[in-house]
Amino acid sequence: MRPLTLGDFELRVFSDGTYPLDGGAFFGVVPKLMWSKKVAADARNFCTAGLNSLLIRTGKQTVLVDTGMGNKLSDRMVKFYGQPAKLLDNLSAASVAPEDIDIVINSHLHFDHCGWNTVRDRNGKIVPTFPRAKYYAPEGEWHYARKPSERDRISYISENYDPLVESGRMTLLKGGEQILPGITVETFRGHTASMQAILVKGRGPGRAAPSPSAPRVDDIRASGAQPHTACYISDLIPTTAHLDLTWGMSFDLYPLDTIDSKKRYYARAIPQKLLTVFTHDPETSWAYVEQDESGKMIARGVE
Ligand SMILES: [Zn+2]
Repeated sequence: MRPLTLGDFELRVFSDGTYPLDGGAFFGVVPKLMWSKKVAADARNFCTAGLNSLLIRTGKQTVLVDTGMGNKLSDRMVKFYGQPAKLLDNLSAASVAPEDIDIVINSHLHFDHCGWNTVRDRNGKIVPTFPRAKYYAPEGEWHYARKPSERDRISYISENYDPLVESGRMTLLKGGEQILPGITVETFRGHTASMQAILVKGRGPGRAAPSPSAPRVDDIRASGAQPHTACYISDLIPTTAHLDLTWGMSFDLYPLDTIDSKKRYYARAIPQKLLTVFTHDPETSWAYVEQDESGKMIARGVE
């Protein structure tokens, strides 16, 4: 995935790999007759889900948003999801070492969004994967994760966050905080009660020296797109196939709130041309959300 410059920030998506996800779980009450026109399923009804993390270089600091599934799944979980565990390799291929990450932000604490927060060291002790990083996660998520409902208990693996909270490495967020100038979080209820989107607003057009392959913000403006701000909207809109207001995942704990939160997001994302990052889309990591003449939500690619 090519990097993109956003003001003086450089953005790039890194994948932890893909995993099989039951089509019914992925698309909730939407009939297969409809979703199968957008997304392919295999003979067992599994679709392919991506695990997209967003790396932001501000010029001073390097920020990683969500950390995929990691490598600590139980044997039972591996049976369902495999364990692609590719994030560190993919970062390394772009010369990003774990030591380079200054800040990690988790949108929520489901196992497929914070899996690489920690690893087991040689002695089996849980340690931070990113040894210098300050970690952030929604406070409400952490409280919920300590006593989840029977419905989604399997989605929380305490080793991904409890050791970080206990050691003071993880700061818990109420929603609305600025993590760094230009990087803020905002709660969007629906998938869970406290899931937060991460909004990224680079300052000024292209002050830093981005990599030569990155399209400049001015080029994109010239093409009419104007990405002032990007938003990692996480599981509120996990893929470009979930743009329709009523196409929510069956994992969502508050499906009616998912619809309200999507409306709130689109009311800003469409007129302000936010670049939306899709956490589970195996093909389209980011796109602009637009509404066509018939009112249908569509994703328009960056390139
Ligand atoms: Zn989730």
